[in-house]
Formats: sequence, structure tokens, C-alpha cells
Amino acid sequence: MANILEVKINDFMAKIIAKNPGETEFHQAVQEVAESLLPFIEENPRYKHAKILERITEPERVVMFRVPWIDDKGEIQVNRGYRIEMNSAIGPYKGGLRFHPTVNLGILKFLAFEQVFKNSLTTLPMGGGKGGSDFDPKGKSDNEVMLFCQSFMTELQRHIGQDTDVPAGDIGVGGREIGYLFGQYKRIKNEFTGVLTGKGLEWGGSLIRPEATGYGAVYFAEEMLKTRNEGIKGKIAVVSGSGNVAQYTIEKLIQLGGKAVTLSDSEGFIYDPDGIDADKLQYVMELKNIRRGRIKEYAEKYKVKYVEGQRPWNIKCDLVFPSATQNEINENDAKELVKNGCFVVSEGANMPSTPEAVEVFLNAKILFGPGKAANAGGVATSGLEMTQNSMRLPWTREEVDERLHMIMTSIHSTCMQYGREKSGFINYVNGANIGGFIKVADAMIAQGVV
Ligand code: NDP
Repeated sequence: MANILEVKINDFMAKIIAKNPGETEFHQAVQEVAESLLPFIEENPRYKHAKILERITEPERVVMFRVPWIDDKGEIQVNRGYRIEMNSAIGPYKGGLRFHPTVNLGILKFLAFEQVFKNSLTTLPMGGGKGGSDFDPKGKSDNEVMLFCQSFMTELQRHIGQDTDVPAGDIGVGGREIGYLFGQYKRIKNEFTGVLTGKGLEWGGSLIRPEATGYGAVYFAEEMLKTRNEGIKGKIAVVSGSGNVAQYTIEKLIQLGGKAVTLSDSEGFIYDPDGIDADKLQYVMELKNIRRGRIKEYAEKYKVKYVEGQRPWNIKCDLVFPSATQNEINENDAKELVKNGCFVVSEGANMPSTPEAVEVFLNAKILFGPGKAANAGGVATSGLEMTQNSMRLPWTREEVDERLHMIMTSIHSTCMQYGREKSGFINYVNGANIGGFIKVADAMIAQGVV
């Protein structure tokens, strides 16, 4: 049986690769899902007959467009913009915008594909999408970022809407960028709607949205720990990245009595064995969100170790929260982490572990929470922002946080339901893929061949 399945997966992947040449991250994301789903689909032939796997891997729509803008020197710059509208079976397309020089079609298709399953897991009615540009906000003035965002939205506005497609932030797109994008949308459309999430509090944003992905990743780790009668208190955590997700992961770890000892950016990482406390975190937020400086400055200020050009995976810890970018943990990193005693990985970033690294974690039988489950708190709270926008009624901080917590607990239960193996081990990868798939697949069947 295993061999027949292997052949089927290889055949399926050969078609995906031929149809989407060069899109390696997309192939990687599809392969992982196919490995989880094909055995399940074999046992549930209605999904096979409806060709759900073939349909779900083909975006409903891909938009690519020119984004011209003028820099501070008066020179014309040209970037490329994208929106991948992957699947709308259970709700409007929903997913972030990424502004980073590495952005390309394959990366955005992988992110949009993952988003479909993630959004389904949240229990909220949201389809999957993703977008962005190869624009690099780093080193640009506020004025340049604004002009870029305005040009980007001048085209994107034709394709989105509060009932059609609702983008949010991702790498390189935070509160500042969402503000400029929203302003331009409102100006062109002459309407004030919840077309973007991650908005400022004064103009339709939700409390807890900035915190949600990081908080959610810690709530998910806490649920995983409970299965082994453990908690966050007293645990040492390694965190990568130093942006939105990393910052609020650390905030929640501090609240729950854990100790985060690392942070990174694309140039290196800092190691603070005494732990990043609330005051130091405040400094990081100011450094990264306002001054837009480098993490190296933390090491200089607090006289701790800075390791240039490396990631923090050789630091001894109990918990790991990869919160920077895709494929940041490879097989050797995973082996090093496991060897040093790490037994929980809660992925704040999307697909931060390579397939080989995931295999190491699963073989070691540690608690491995894949991004589409562990970081779903961000989009879940975006869904809650959409609800508040539709009601034109904001909820309190406690109300939103409680709903976020409930959603993360529910995602964990779904993963347990579909990921529990005969030995009792919970394979959260299979759990998240199958749990996220069923609702979307059933909706696709109900809606006919569209
Ligand atoms: P930010 O832009 O706020 O921060 C990204 C951080 O990761 C920065 O420290 C950045 O360093 C680092 N980083 C980015 N690219 C690379 C790279 N190629 N190599 C090394 N370091 C890198 O983004 P977010 O915190 O919002 O996003 C982080 C991850 O979490 C992404 O994978 C994103 O898709 C995922 N995610 C985010 C959600 C959200 O709500 N924001 C929701 C769900 C998932 P530098 O400043 O040097 O570039």
C-alpha cells in the first residue's frame, strides 16, 4: 500500500512541477499536503472522484501587475505586484501582502495555498489568498513607502473588496503600509469598508490584531504542552525574527512565565541568556517598529552575544518559535535542536522548517506544530476584525483575546482528532492538513464544478 501511495504522490507531483515550473516553494508546500491527504483521499473516494486535490492546487485567479512609482531623487522605479486568489469555497479570499525583494510567484502561491487550509482551521468563513511585491521597504523614506503603496493599491483595488478579497499584512507590511494602502483604496472607491485588516484602532482596526499571531503561536504551544502535562512556565525559548510575530511571541511568553533568549534578523542573531524581559522587549519594539534599526544594536546596548550571518538553532532550549521566514530551519539545524533537548516547535512563520527538518522532528516524536495551525491566530483575529467592521461595533481587548484563545484551542483539538496515530503520537502535520481540507473540499463538492 505504502508503495502504491508513493507512486501516486510522485505522479501527482510530477504534474504539479510540470504545470508550475520553477516554483520550488509551491512544490514543497503541495508535496507536504499531498503526502498527508492522499492516504485520506484513498479512504474517502468522493474527494477523489471530485478531483479536489487537482482543483485545490490550481489558483482560482492570479493577478500580476506593474507598480511604477517615483523615489525621493525623482527617479522612476518599477516593481511587480501580485494577488493570488487561491480558493473562495468557504468565504472571501483572505491572506496577507508581503513586501520583500525575494517575493515571486512561487513564494506567493505557496503562501496562498497554505492559507486555504489555515483559514479553514480557524472555524471562520474565510477563503485563501496572498499577495505582495518585490518592493523592499527597508531603507526607503516614509514618503517613498507611501507613493509605492498608493501605486500598488491603484491597481489592486479593482480585484479586492470586503466581500471579495480582504488582504492584511505580512513580512514588510505592518501598520504603516496598511494605512497608506487603506487611504488610497478609500480615495479611489469613495467607501469606508473593512477591505483590509490590520488597520489602526481609530479607523476600524481590532484590538489584539497586532499581537494575534505571536500570542496564538504561544497558545498553541501551551495546548501541545498540556498533552504531556507540561506548561510554559520556566521553559527556555528560542525565537527567530524580530518583527511582528517574534515580538508578540515574546510578550506572551513573558506573561506565561517562559524565558525567551534569542532574536534575529536577516543579518544575524542575539543571545541573551538572562532572558528578554518586558523592558528589553519595549526596546526591541522601538528599535524595529519606529527606528527600523538592526538587531545587532540590542547586543551593543545589553552587552550580550551577537552572531553575524547565523540563525539561533544551536542555542539550548525547550521551546522553539521560528518567526522569521520560510525554510529557515534545515535538517542539521533540526538535529541540533533535538540533540540539545528542544521538544516543542511552534511555527510562527510560514513553512520555516524544510521537509527534511520536519522529518527529523516527527521521527524524534517531539511536539511539532506546523505554521498553518500554530500561526493561524493572526488570520483568525483578522476574521474577527472583519466581523467587527460588518457590525460597526468594536470588541474589548479581553473579548478578542478570549476568542483568539478559544480558536487556538479548537485548532489544536482538530489537529488531535485527525492527527492521532495508533501509537498515540499526534502528528500535527497530518492533523492540520486533513482537518483544514475537509471543510473546503465538502464546500467545493456542494458548489459543483466551478
Ligand atoms: P516582519 O516583517 O514584521 O518581520 C520579519 C522578520 O523576519 C524580521 O526580523 C526580518 O529581518 C526577518 N526576515 C525576513 N526575511 C528573512 C530572511 N529571508 N532571512 C532571515 N530573516 C528574515 O514580518 P512578520 O513578523 O509579520 O512575519 C514573520 C513570519 O510570520 C513570516 O513567515 C510570515 O509569513 C509569518 N506570518 C505572519 C503573520 C502576521 O500576522 N504578521 C501571520 C501568519 C504568519 P529583516 O528585518 O532583517 O528583514
